[in-house]
Amino acid sequence: MIDFRSDTVTQPSDAMRAAAKDAETGDDVYLEDPTVNALEAEAAELAGTEDALYVPSGTMGNQIAAKVHTEHGQEALVEAESHVYHYELGGFATHAGLQTKPYDGAGNGVPTPAQVHEKVVPEGLHEAGTGILCLENTHNRMGGTTATVAEVEAAADAAHEHGVPVHVDGARIGNAAVALGVDIADLAEPVDSVMFCLSKGLGAPVGSMLAGSEAFVEAARRERKHFGGGMRQAGLIAAPGRLALDNVDRLAEDHANARRLAAGLDSLDGLSAPEPDTNIVLVNTENTGMTAADFLSECEERDVLGAEFGDYTVRFCTHLDVDETDVDAAIDAVEQIV
Ligand SMILES: *Cc1c(COP(=O)(O)O)cnc(C)c1O
Repeated sequence: MIDFRSDTVTQPSDAMRAAAKDAETGDDVYLEDPTVNALEAEAAELAGTEDALYVPSGTMGNQIAAKVHTEHGQEALVEAESHVYHYELGGFATHAGLQTKPYDGAGNGVPTPAQVHEKVVPEGLHEAGTGILCLENTHNRMGGTTATVAEVEAAADAAHEHGVPVHVDGARIGNAAVALGVDIADLAEPVDSVMFCLSKGLGAPVGSMLAGSEAFVEAARRERKHFGGGMRQAGLIAAPGRLALDNVDRLAEDHANARRLAAGLDSLDGLSAPEPDTNIVLVNTENTGMTAADFLSECEERDVLGAEFGDYTVRFCTHLDVDETDVDAAIDAVEQIV
């Protein structure tokens, strides 16, 4: 099987398994796990923040951030196609008592300053007040699109003018940084917190990081406990996570493979696949007459897996466990289908 469903499907490398086996551990809820402590320090360094917290999943990281930044009953500004809005089960409402207000980040997911000014509402007798602005970089449902440092800064500055904190769902912020030729820290600098996943393109088996100021991370640590996310000898999973931090620069290979896949598929009759910014290829099947579901079952018969992203949209994601040969084999298989 050539598995392009997600960059979460990667298997831990031999080095990661060995690191897990040999990890020094302690009780992390007592702050005594040296491997988790090292991972948190290294992640903070990478994000250019004062501190960082190891969390079991990206979803928990985003949810904790929303809870820490806001007060119950406020509004959260979220992109209409974002992960926090689509795929987190309405968690902002259940966990933080937030009303979500979507904005349309057409193109790459980032709002213009004018959109931010328009959507922010002050707290008053008749309005809830805006408690947080969420950005997503790269933007998954738009096809792994990147938001530049200038765009992030402009949106964040607009929110800050109203005293509204900004959180970046940076599940794939490493992909954005590599594609833009900047540091993760440059993309995190304008905002108040950033979550990034170790378990996607970086290849770790488990876990995400939530980075921000010391005060933010201290509050986030308390919330993580509240969410039931306090972990004990978590060094076993943090050790492969530390190795994952070394995989940022190699994301460029995933991007090259994604461009190769998109170009190959786009050249086939009836398929269109725009050149991707990063590791996510969106394929439109409409002109083949096949729905995304039909197309994907044909793919599966030829040992190629992708994800359905709409009636006629399929997502193929490149990652550590697929190489150029797999990409070419997948293009050949799809050619037989169309
Ligand atoms: C995967 C993903 C998350 C959440 O990560 P999990 O670890 O699966 O909970 C959040 N945001 C985006 C954009 C993602 O792609």
